Amino acid sequence: MERISIVQGDITGQQVQAIVNAANESLLGGGGVDGAIHRTAGPELLAECRTLGGCPTGEARITKGYHLPAPWVIHTVGPVWHGGGRGEDEVLASCYQSVYALLEQHGIVTVAFPAISTGVYRFPLERAAGIAVSETRRFLGRNQSVQEIRFVCFDAGNEAAYRQALSGTLI
Ligand code: ADP
Repeated sequence: MERISIVQGDITGQQVQAIVNAANESLLGGGGVDGAIHRTAGPELLAECRTLGGCPTGEARITKGYHLPAPWVIHTVGPVWHGGGRGEDEVLASCYQSVYALLEQHGIVTVAFPAISTGVYRFPLERAAGIAVSETRRFLGRNQSVQEIRFVCFDAGNEAAYRQALSGTLI
């Protein structure tokens, strides 16, 4: 499906209308991709996030991108992996669905995602990539406006997992 793309790189440099942040419930910044996004966006991003009052796991909130190339940041809070018996798959799927709902509300047609929950939240990479791709295919099946959904992989292992998920060998 040509509206899905996979690249290796840093999400903070992506020239798209919105980048997705793998945030925590406080929305007040953290490590990993969250820290990188706040560093590039500047302190204005933290100031706007403070006005939002946090975000429950599985939901998403939108802010401006400030000094990022992307005009919007969509913050979503992925599940912490506890072995798979606590609804982690459904909560991760809900992150993607929440981001897609915001894209539609704001008329955003290009978006870049990191591999939500696969860092310090320890969600297994191949499983997370499978959920990302299947939720994205489901969304694109009913949405004709969105032009590009880009999965930005921080390293080669990440990229391999997404390519495998997209080729359908794992799902
Ligand atoms: P989480 O808490 O949701 O697990 P992390 O930020 O720890 O979030 O990691 C999520 C994923 O983002 C990991 O696969 C990590 O390698 C990747 N990542 C970290 N920094 C960046 C970045 N600057 N651009 C893209 N991906 C990144």
